[in-house]
Amino acid sequence: SGQGNVRVLVRARPFVPREVAAGSRCLLSMDSSADITIIHSEETINGSDKTDTASIQRRSKLSKEFVFDASLWSVDKSTSNRFIGQPELYKTVGKEFLDHSFNGYHTCILAYGQTGSGKSYTMIGSDNEPGIIPQTCYDLFDRVKQMTTSTTSFTVKVTFFEIYNENVYDLLTSRSLKGQPTPLKVRESPVDGPYVKDLSSHSVHNFEEVENLLRKGNELRATASTNMNDSSSRSHAVFTLSLKKIVSDPILDETTEEMNARIRFVDLAGSERANSTGASGSRLREGSNINKSLTTLGRVINILSESALSSKKKELVPYRDSTLTWLLKDSLGGNSKTAMIACVSPCDYEETLSTLRYASRAKHIRTRAVVNQDIIS
Ligand code: ADP
Ligand code: MG
Repeated sequence: SGQGNVRVLVRARPFVPREVAAGSRCLLSMDSSADITIIHSEETINGSDKTDTASIQRRSKLSKEFVFDASLWSVDKSTSNRFIGQPELYKTVGKEFLDHSFNGYHTCILAYGQTGSGKSYTMIGSDNEPGIIPQTCYDLFDRVKQMTTSTTSFTVKVTFFEIYNENVYDLLTSRSLKGQPTPLKVRESPVDGPYVKDLSSHSVHNFEEVENLLRKGNELRATASTNMNDSSSRSHAVFTLSLKKIVSDPILDETTEEMNARIRFVDLAGSERANSTGASGSRLREGSNINKSLTTLGRVINILSESALSSKKKELVPYRDSTLTWLLKDSLGGNSKTAMIACVSPCDYEETLSTLRYASRAKHIRTRAVVNQDIIS
């Protein structure tokens, strides 16, 4: 059925060289494929061996347990936990979501987490270790090939844009890297809801074509604002595939069935608080605008999860308060099957705890996906 909660998964990445050099300890443990426990670093180093009552109580206060739809251990292969690499990640969530798309549902997978937590690795990855987006594209064209017959055909289109400073920029049109790119306008259609006006849309016929567009857009995202350090940590990237299936009558050669599925992937800006970056001037404005989209996303998630849990009068959901939530309206509280992958570092207590709390709230959100199909008779 199309009614269901947002699926929430947590993925813990390996230690990066900086963390290894700092001698950081792992603060996370996963007891089952759903639970994740975080403990405070002080306790692992100084107090974990103490068995007096006070120490045990203090430890249990600082240690927090969460349960998600899945907890994905990508920290190391040496422990008893089942290691989740890129192929296992795809098997856990990507494949199922592509099944939904071929059944005519709109889907959305969002990656949330602080800068450096593994969002882009999870969504895009590298040539040798492709993330969810390239694996989905590969599987999609594989299935299209198998399912295409003399009466059933498919078309696939791609769009890719980023939201930076509350403005929308196309990542698939050639733009001067020196000059200021032109922001696109967000409009609302009575039928399709909010959309980006004049966004370029590209027909793709095989995996290589879509892979090229993904690469091109990614390069543009990384170089868009030359003077800003790590612009990708400040922008939200939205990659969308539109899958259309057309079934025709073999004798009359007329379309008898049309199915449309939108497959959306969102690599969110880093969730770390704007005030911890010491930004000033135009970077402050940028920071506060990023904050606007992310804080609004947080408010939208809170309101949606509260209204799912209580029967009291529904509060108005402030989708319109930011570009991100306005464009993702359908994916967050409407016609979509949606998953959030919360990415965490194995050794950052404050940020990881805040991400786990955020992800816990998202679990309560319910969406109402419908099959987007027209039977023409
Ligand atoms: P973000 O997009 O959240 O800022 P990245 O995806 O760029 O973070 O990840 C930060 C670093 O950690 C990168 O060098 C990336 O290759 C590495 N990394 C992240 N997640 C994993 C993982 N699951 N396995 C291996 N390396 C990872
Ligand atoms: Mg990134």
